[in-house]
Amino acid sequence: MSVKSANNLIWGILAAVILALFFGTWLGTSMTKVEWIGTLFLNALKMTIIPLIVSAVICGVCSLGDVRKLGKIGGVTIGYYLTTTAVAVFVGLMVVNIIQPGEQFSISEEVATRGTDHGEAPKLTDIPLSMIAPNLIEAAAQTKLLPIIVFSLLFAAALSTTGQKGKPLIEFFDGLNETMMKIVSWLMIFAPIGIFCLVSARLGAAGGGEAFWLEIMAIGKYVFAVLLGLLIHFFLLFVFLALVAGGGLKHFLSVSRALLTAFGTASSSATLPITMDCLKEAGVEDRSIKFVLPLGATINMDGTALYEAVAVMFIAQAYGIEMSAIEQGIIFITATLAAIGAAGIPQAGLVTMVLVLTAVNLPLEGIGLLLAVDWFLDRFRTAINVWGDSIGASVISRFWKNLN
Ligand code: ASP
Repeated sequence: MSVKSANNLIWGILAAVILALFFGTWLGTSMTKVEWIGTLFLNALKMTIIPLIVSAVICGVCSLGDVRKLGKIGGVTIGYYLTTTAVAVFVGLMVVNIIQPGEQFSISEEVATRGTDHGEAPKLTDIPLSMIAPNLIEAAAQTKLLPIIVFSLLFAAALSTTGQKGKPLIEFFDGLNETMMKIVSWLMIFAPIGIFCLVSARLGAAGGGEAFWLEIMAIGKYVFAVLLGLLIHFFLLFVFLALVAGGGLKHFLSVSRALLTAFGTASSSATLPITMDCLKEAGVEDRSIKFVLPLGATINMDGTALYEAVAVMFIAQAYGIEMSAIEQGIIFITATLAAIGAAGIPQAGLVTMVLVLTAVNLPLEGIGLLLAVDWFLDRFRTAINVWGDSIGASVISRFWKNLN
């Protein structure tokens, strides 16, 4: 895509989000009629994910030249993303301790029982277990990216040791990757329409502007704490990028299409093909786009981690349960792990939060307090998830040569 059409698209998507907020507020539930168009766009993006990720990771690893480098780059990538996630949780805990959004919050009967149906609680051991799927086709069908990436890494590592014999296969995946990227750039043309329909229909489903505004006001301090934490983390990463690799603003403009798509779809997995496209245009090293970024999109969720820490502390405060420094330490660790285990799909963070609540013995019903506004906050945290992934790919790309 040319720079001019990419710029036009950014304005188009931005206008779509603003118009969607306006129409969703104004027309309320009748906007749900356009939901199917948004779903069509979302499905089209999802359709590209598996072939795109598999081919990207395989090409990325094979282009390392020597399979031994995989461990080094993989280690740096995982270490980097773990650190930024931990920083995000720390920011969340700071904000929630200062603002105390749950203080003097009165829990109504109706709200307190909303979240009681959360099925079986996830366990910490679910995270390593989710890395390997016994049936790859089933995992692909359910867009479970983690086992697909683990398999692709293994496959690529083996492929890169096969010498001449494996060459045609590497070329095949290279061609597949180029083709998928082309399809993604075509799909992007429909992004403004798709995102308009997704956002306006969701706001409509929430009862329109007035009804939703009342929900937000009811737990306004909590919404404010989450948004403030996300904003602080956004700037921290921005400054970090500017200091270590340069070009903070340039990077922001390059990935703004992906950030807006993340806001529109509330799914970092569905946004991944677009993030790849944006980073390609931003001149990020190809190997970083194909290797670091997909890994980041699956294990790195800064926004989700921060939100989980704020939400859990909010629940504790609302129920009047004091969280000691040790318990906050447990929240720190489990929120980091829960974010790694969360899938890149809408409201996945709400599910893995059960893990954090259980670790510090907080009532799971507390989730009911957050449900009404969660779809809204989900969009912001997904955008921060994508922002974090993209910065990781950019920073590691910059230092790639030193790592070799
Ligand atoms: N929707 C988020 C994502 O796709 C996950 C979450 O926090 O619920 O990245």
